[in-house]
Amino acid sequence: MRIKLVHTQRVLAPTIMTLAGFTINPYRGCEFNCSYCYAKSIRIDNKNRDLLGVKINAPEILEKELNYKKIDKVVLGSNCECFTYAEIKFKLTEKILTILNNNRVAYTILTKSHLIGNYLPLIRQNKDNRIFFTFNFSREKIRSFLEEKSPSLENRLAVLERIKQSGIPLRIHIGPFIPYLSDLDEIFFRIKGLTREINIELYHSKTGNFEEVLQKVKDYDYSIAGKIRTVYENRESYRDFSRRLRIQALALNKSYGFKIYFIVPEFDEFYDSRINYENPIF
Ligand code: SF4
Repeated sequence: MRIKLVHTQRVLAPTIMTLAGFTINPYRGCEFNCSYCYAKSIRIDNKNRDLLGVKINAPEILEKELNYKKIDKVVLGSNCECFTYAEIKFKLTEKILTILNNNRVAYTILTKSHLIGNYLPLIRQNKDNRIFFTFNFSREKIRSFLEEKSPSLENRLAVLERIKQSGIPLRIHIGPFIPYLSDLDEIFFRIKGLTREINIELYHSKTGNFEEVLQKVKDYDYSIAGKIRTVYENRESYRDFSRRLRIQALALNKSYGFKIYFIVPEFDEFYDSRINYENPIF
């Protein structure tokens, strides 16, 4: 992937997410290139997907912003992956976490990267920091089809074990849960014992590049693409699938005992503030 150094004027961005009032995204675009990415519209150049923006002055700007803004918590990685491969060289996320720790600003990190493993001592410094870690597929072949360059499932499971050992509050994010590709039964089995809390967030077709995803899935298995289209055909078919998913989660959970946050975006609407990550259903 090609890198472009960019200068940003603002680091703390207001958000409608229920997890915090502000987000921080040290990079623009993402090297992992997930087909369903909800954040693709903020790529540095939409025609040129092979370009990652590195906000090289972000730590310096954040320090300045924290001098005059009263912030108690933020979300990291709502529009990018903070622990992307470029982070090994640029260490922007490392500098930002250090600044947030020094200013006692708690953070929730959204990630699917095993590279977070190098940062656990830093993240542990504030007991209110937490990690939401994505594990939404159980089969390597499906992951590599839909997430071109994301870390393997084995690497993710290995770092999840390290996060668990570190004692940092952890929630495993099964999202987006893509019908007929994400398998709840298999995922629960693979993450058993690694966390107490999970999100199950149903794939949001309006925000998640629906046609592009279906095109990819067709190359993987034509019949599955048809089934996914049926789920998203209309409001009723979508509701029906989400109802059945909820019933399945409840039944499975009798053996696992997770605290489950079940998130179903409104059909045919863009991502909005009604999507709540703080209300467990059981
Ligand atoms: S890791 Fe996240 S930000 Fe990066 S492409 Fe995948 S969904 Fe998008």
